Amino acid sequence: MIKKIVVIPGDGIGPEITEQAVKICRAAAEGSEIDLAFETKYAGGAAIDRYGEPLPEDTLEVCRGADAILLGAVGGPAWDHVAPALRPEKAILGLRKALGLYANLRPVRVFPALVSHAPLKAEVVTGVDMMLVRELNGGIYYGSRSESEIVNGVEEAWDTELYNTAEVTRIVRLAAQIAAKRQSSVVSVDKANVLASSRLWRRTAETVVREFPNIKLNHLYVDNCAMQIVLAPTQFDVIVTNNLFGDILSDEAAVITGSIGMLPSASIGDGPGLYEPIHGSAPDIAGQGIANPLGTILSAAMMFRYSLGAEEIAVKIEQAVEKVLAEGYRTADLFKQGSSKVTTDEMGQQVLNHL
Ligand code: NAD
Repeated sequence: MIKKIVVIPGDGIGPEITEQAVKICRAAAEGSEIDLAFETKYAGGAAIDRYGEPLPEDTLEVCRGADAILLGAVGGPAWDHVAPALRPEKAILGLRKALGLYANLRPVRVFPALVSHAPLKAEVVTGVDMMLVRELNGGIYYGSRSESEIVNGVEEAWDTELYNTAEVTRIVRLAAQIAAKRQSSVVSVDKANVLASSRLWRRTAETVVREFPNIKLNHLYVDNCAMQIVLAPTQFDVIVTNNLFGDILSDEAAVITGSIGMLPSASIGDGPGLYEPIHGSAPDIAGQGIANPLGTILSAAMMFRYSLGAEEIAVKIEQAVEKVLAEGYRTADLFKQGSSKVTTDEMGQQVLNHL
């Protein structure tokens, strides 16, 4: 079974970390029924330099025909001066829109070997293993807005939050399906005490979850959820929320792990999924061979799980990463006295050794 993967290395550390992830994918799929066919394409700053635009039509076309897309990161100071419509980040928004990627999945897990890196006390973060499911295609980021109007002599601006039941249904259904393979608990986050769109969200979530008799659904207001993520993050299994709340909560949940280089993400829709680490292009360390490739390698594991239907390969990669960490191998971002410092390439090699 041939699976076509588009690799978009992007900018900064992107090429270094995607190289490691591709190496791991090849080794992990060896001997399975999956035959991986990789094709490299440009987006972000690298595409601006070559073609004058962040998301060339050719890249988009090839992505549309692929099974999945593996992305490093885009952006950097070299493109800070370009016009807003041409900024490297437009490549990611363009891909999300063009591919109909309506769900962003961010697993937040504190690896036992990295508990001491977390900014919260060990007893608070030990055992954290949650999945944040963010609606990605609707809500206030896509609603109509006015940049500036003069009303009664003062300047106003406004944005609109709009959701329909179809949009809420598909994201809550996905969250419930994911929870069914985990601890069967979904927390739906809204602001239903104030917002009409949140009341529709809550009603719809109740209806959808009836399809899943084994799933336990709870609701939290977003302000309470923000507190609970810091106070008692182990209570969460799957969190599902809208675009705006998810944007904020997913960064909050990520930062409690204390290791930004470790965190993967998936954006999925009805077509090919997009897999990328949550961090940026880290221009400050680009080209030095010291970037942590594990967030990208774990994103590749998600790709096997959600786009290639190969759960066992996903688990194999995740277990290899866990073993390498348990053995004390660390890239510079996570290095502490007593552990073994490795380069980007050596970290990839260590994971490879465990596959
Ligand atoms: P960043 O995530 O690139 O870097 C923040 C800090 O974390 C830096 O000190 C960096 O060295 C470190 N870091 C990040 N990833 C690391 C890794 N894998 N290994 C070791 N250290 C790592 O965030 P930033 O500096 O705010 O942004 C840099 C550029 O990336 C900007 O142009 C920004 O727009 C872009 N960006 C892109 C994406 C994306 O492609 N999805 C996401 C966020 C930021």
